[in-house]
Amino acid sequence: MSLAENLRTVRARIDAAARTAGRAPADVGLLAVSKTWPADDVRVLAAAGQHDFGENRVQELLGKAVDLADVDLRWHFVGQLQRNKAAAVARTGAVVHSVDRPALATTLDRAAQEMGRPVEVFVQVDLGGPEGEAAARGGAAPVAVPALCDTVAGTAGLRLRGLMAVAPREGDPAPAFARLAALAERVRADHPEAGELSAGMSGDLEAAVAAGATLVRVGTALFGARPLPCGEFEEHQPRESQQ
Ligand SMILES: *Cc1c(COP(=O)(O)O)cnc(C)c1O
Repeated sequence: MSLAENLRTVRARIDAAARTAGRAPADVGLLAVSKTWPADDVRVLAAAGQHDFGENRVQELLGKAVDLADVDLRWHFVGQLQRNKAAAVARTGAVVHSVDRPALATTLDRAAQEMGRPVEVFVQVDLGGPEGEAAARGGAAPVAVPALCDTVAGTAGLRLRGLMAVAPREGDPAPAFARLAALAERVRADHPEAGELSAGMSGDLEAAVAAGATLVRVGTALFGARPLPCGEFEEHQPRESQQ
């Protein structure tokens, strides 16, 4: 299958999931997660009409942003982010999906103000593992999310778009997405502008759309199985410093 065919297939899955959920297909966006894949693949998908692309490693994002500076696309950063790399990510114009602590919000806000241009962010929620333990994929504990959203919304440089999460690796994603949707509703009551929900990947996008996702993040179903087995969520590496 070609990349363009994969794009049509994934878009058809999203549209079908939206209709099944009684939602408008146009209300669910697609973020193509291009991590590990070459810039030329991004170019092909961009030519096929895909506009939003995501990366989870800072160096890879920065390299592709340079290589693809001539392409009209929007970058998103979906990996865990250290504060000392936050300004470099902000300068690419990327939407940051992984704000999970006040200190990172503060650093991104400062970068935005120095650039004179807002940084759009999602607050990442840790939905936990099957036994309720922290999932080690980043994300704030659900109980900490409303206050973190208040912090983000109170900055001059950040625009809160909504919540982001990865479902637990094991088991049915639906209950986790339902908890995420309830939390998103609570955040939206305080911050009506934060109406987006970044959730769902190749294996669980239908469940995420059923729960209200407005942006699904798809890698494998578009590009194929990744050549590198680890690093997907950097979960085999020590948790980055909270600084
Ligand atoms: C890699 C990644 C995805 C895409 O996962 P696939 O299963 O390949 O579709 C989505 N979100 C995040 C945060 C990722 O790191």
